[in-house]
Amino acid sequence: MMSKKKKEALQKMLIEKKREIWNEVKQKLFQQLGKDYKSELDTALDEGDKALTDLAEETGLSLIDLRKDTLEKIDHALEKLEQGTYGICEDCGTEISDQRLKAVPFAIYCIECKQKQEELEQIERERERFGVPSPHEIGEEPL
Ligand SMILES: [Zn+2]
Repeated sequence: MMSKKKKEALQKMLIEKKREIWNEVKQKLFQQLGKDYKSELDTALDEGDKALTDLAEETGLSLIDLRKDTLEKIDHALEKLEQGTYGICEDCGTEISDQRLKAVPFAIYCIECKQKQEELEQIERERERFGVPSPHEIGEEPL
């Protein structure tokens, strides 16, 4: 069981990380949309994070997509901290090593399960690339 002190330190760190990412995302949004979307941006800022990510998606910022993924992972980690399941692999149920959590504080899988998943994803990607194209892909340039 995790100590209260450790839990609080982790929460603080995750929230800090989240804030960092948000600042970065907002900056990017202002740079790219500042002029044309000024009123939309102001509204979104008032409405909160969800409105901002929606606006980002509407305007097609690819960097945001990536960050959104990380932000969701951080939220998930914070939830798990609350529930007391933080640091436990969601796949096999063993404890994720401190070393891994230090590197990826929002990791939800132990290193073994993560590697297994990446191998599966790799196979999946290769199958997509070399497999039979689905109808909507015909006519498109191969990657
Ligand atoms: Zn595992």
